[in-house]
Amino acid sequence: MLTAVFTVDPTAIDGALLQRAAAVLLSGGLVAFPTETVYGLGANALDARAVRGIFAAKERPAYDPLIVHLADVGDLGRVARDIPPLVSDLAAHFWPGPLTLVLPRCAAIPLEVTAGGETVAVRVPAHPVAQALIRAAGVPVAAPSANRFGRLSPTCAADVLADLDGRIEVLLDGGPTVVGVESTVLSLVGEPVILRPGGVSREALEAILGPVVVSERPVLPTEDLPASPGLLLQHYAPRAPLILYQGTPAAMRAALASAASLHQQSQVRVGLLLADEDLPFFAGLDLLVETAGSAADLETVARRLFSALRALDAAGAEVILARDFGVTGLGLAIRDRLTRAAGGHVVEAPPV
Ligand code: AMP
Ligand code: MG
Repeated sequence: MLTAVFTVDPTAIDGALLQRAAAVLLSGGLVAFPTETVYGLGANALDARAVRGIFAAKERPAYDPLIVHLADVGDLGRVARDIPPLVSDLAAHFWPGPLTLVLPRCAAIPLEVTAGGETVAVRVPAHPVAQALIRAAGVPVAAPSANRFGRLSPTCAADVLADLDGRIEVLLDGGPTVVGVESTVLSLVGEPVILRPGGVSREALEAILGPVVVSERPVLPTEDLPASPGLLLQHYAPRAPLILYQGTPAAMRAALASAASLHQQSQVRVGLLLADEDLPFFAGLDLLVETAGSAADLETVARRLFSALRALDAAGAEVILARDFGVTGLGLAIRDRLTRAAGGHVVEAPPV
């Protein structure tokens, strides 16, 4: 199959192009499109066969459910039922935006979307191209991240092609994404629980809901599937093995520097994922270095995180040593993604 790439200017959307992409969705095809978080791989959520195509293209296991995207909160009743009253509060604050809600499923949503479960994950994305595509199609659009399973989520069109060229009908190229990490997944089946930290911070949710629990990530593979299968370790991984360092900035720098020199002594090409302010401490060393931004500007770090990891892979890093960015605001989502990329290989840097 040839993948058609349509370039779309998000500030001046070409309606005819979007109609063509929507027609592909309605005929059962797959369309990758930008959202504000990462690029999504969309299919008509009401068409079980089309949804199975997503799993085939991504090589995604059928037990990992998909998020359904709507253009408007008013369409929620097409997807979910028994909607609790607090959804209107959450929608008013966070939709359109990077918050996914898990609710009881409507019968119209095929079990392929929900991995056989009775709940459905749903969100209203803010990106103008995503909005235009869903409106033009007139159906809910099931869309996981547009990468092969287990790989880093794509934050630009080239990332999508690297994983899915020839496997999907259309890619809408609307430029790089803004948030850069996936949506926050909040379960509203029972007490609110954050199943996956993401683009909406825990603090922002707690301002509305009061204290919210963040579900524990499995540390080792278990026989039971986790509440949110996307929480499996070894997800969002670059090709090179990654080790995450936590601690104070001084402790992280010291531990990163000594680990880097040990790896170098054994002829291993080291890639470092740093914050801008770490750079002076590593000047003059023969290391591959990427910064994702300042630790004081976590929005930038989230936006650049995946492309920085991809760049270290592309540069030939054989091991990636990454620093941590704390748990405040977007830090929690950044730590979650780095911990998964590390497959749980996290080092507590000793105080210096
Ligand atoms: P992706 O869009 O690729 O980031 O993956 C969507 C993620 O949303 C899945 O991996 C799950 O972690 C989560 N998810 C989707 N549907 C549900 C659901 N019904 N219950 C719990 N988590 C879900
Ligand atoms: Mg994904």
